Amino acid sequence: MTNRAYNFNAGPAALPLEVLQQAQEEFIDYAGAGMSIMEMSHRSSVFEGVNDGAQSLLRELYGIPSHYKILFLQGGASTQFAMIPMNLLTAGKTAAFVHTGSWADKAIKEAKLFGDTAIAATSEADRFNRIPQLSEIRVPDNAAYLHITSNETIEGTQYAAYPATGDVTLIGDLSSDILSRPVDVSQFGMIYAGAQKNLGPSGVTIVIVREDLVESSPKTLPTMLRYDTHVKNNSLYNTPPSFSVYLVGLMLKWVQAKGGVAAMEQLNRDKTKLIYDAIDQSGGFYRGFADLGSRSLMNITFRLGTEELEKQFVKESEQQGFVGLKGHRSVGGLRASTYNAVPLESCKALAEFMADFRKRNE
Ligand code: PMP
Repeated sequence: MTNRAYNFNAGPAALPLEVLQQAQEEFIDYAGAGMSIMEMSHRSSVFEGVNDGAQSLLRELYGIPSHYKILFLQGGASTQFAMIPMNLLTAGKTAAFVHTGSWADKAIKEAKLFGDTAIAATSEADRFNRIPQLSEIRVPDNAAYLHITSNETIEGTQYAAYPATGDVTLIGDLSSDILSRPVDVSQFGMIYAGAQKNLGPSGVTIVIVREDLVESSPKTLPTMLRYDTHVKNNSLYNTPPSFSVYLVGLMLKWVQAKGGVAAMEQLNRDKTKLIYDAIDQSGGFYRGFADLGSRSLMNITFRLGTEELEKQFVKESEQQGFVGLKGHRSVGGLRASTYNAVPLESCKALAEFMADFRKRNE
């Protein structure tokens, strides 16, 4: 057996051992081609099979209707922060946002470079420790779209249900919770996510977009920054991140073998319960950052009584084989990221470590 850490990294993050082993087996000679995926033309029928296979399995597992296109792009979710307003924020319209924290903030700042923006709801007064109630959301009449951040990776908050926006297009940044639970894709005009948390390695960004939205991009946009370019070319307009797309395909097969997205949600609930219970049953030794109703199934944020104790927690956890538990510098404290590929055993081990650390430091 390989010596695998208890990996709670926020992204890039843990991948399933089975996926890594399969990639290892196929690394030098993919499917008898006499070369690795990385050495192969992206125009070859073998790679086209990999590209199409990953798309169709994502469509099947996530229940993506046929009038939505699936794109594999580069530039990370951060490039989508700009591409969305460039393509979809039409003259005289406003880009509306629910401001939930660090990643929503980045999306808002980028949209401001291209046009008017409006904050439809915010939890800033609560230091973003919660997702606003759906009833707090006010979408302006002239909104081109409403943008939400499904899971705030840094604060550890997640929507329990998505807003119904009627005629207004809903756009979701699902970078840190795509494929972690079933989603009604038809509620959205567009969903996007960097792959490096729930779906594979970094280097590829998944965009799921309703066909009608890609038909009216301004003519002056650079070719690479237009959705229609990538739709027309099946994400093969230029050289794609072929190895990353291949690994996404392996990751999707792994999700399928585990029982699909509903099974992932159950597993994620079981995993996070272990750690949230360790927080809730600690008599205040550990304090969860997120409001109960907004707790994330992907990023568990919590604090201890003093920063000293937090430092000690991180140090001792590292000595015992845990990785990635230090919270993001902007929020402080601790964070355990429990994406799809993080095994239940890692979460059990963390809950046990937390109980033991508490006993020794109470
Ligand atoms: N949105 C969210 C919710 C994220 O967690 C991240 C990455 N941590 C991003 C956007 C930015 O993604 P990328 O690094 O792929 O640009």
